[in-house]
Amino acid sequence: MKPNYLKLEFISLPENQAFARDAVAAFCLPLNPTLAQLNEVKTAVSEAVTNCVVHGYREASGLITVECRTDGCELHIRISDKGVGIADVNAAVQPFFTTGPEDERSGMGFTIMQTFMDDFSVQSNPGDGTLVCMSKRFEPEVENA
Ligand code: ATP
Ligand code: MG
Repeated sequence: MKPNYLKLEFISLPENQAFARDAVAAFCLPLNPTLAQLNEVKTAVSEAVTNCVVHGYREASGLITVECRTDGCELHIRISDKGVGIADVNAAVQPFFTTGPEDERSGMGFTIMQTFMDDFSVQSNPGDGTLVCMSKRFEPEVENA
């Protein structure tokens, strides 16, 4: 299968989270994900985009970029904002770490992304925004004899 590429850029409104999630799900359909895998990808994208909205831009608004690339049976996703950034990425990715307990956040978004995807990384600097990279591998399609 030829490599494919998609780039979405949208403003940080909460309602765009569902749109981004569904666009990525549609993009990865040719890789023949199971329903469970599709839901895992959608959930990971939702968590990453929600983080850009609620933490990256807070009350402000800004642009969120979602890029997807297929490479053989692999899906690569990059989700970025140009918001406030993260001072301590190692702490932020720990389960239950949150800077929003008063908003009833549980601090599980990064852990969910890590659990549902095969590769996961976060690059961020205060004032410089945040980039989340995630990949998932799917089973190659078996040809019927
Ligand atoms: P939950 O996702 O369970 O609602 P949460 O968003 O606080 O809670 P994580 O998604 O794991 O938990 O994120 C952990 C912390 O990392 C956040 O509380 C926030 O401080 C920081 N963070 C995550 N994404 C961003 C971002 N895009 N910009 C700035 N800070 C972020
Ligand atoms: Mg979160």
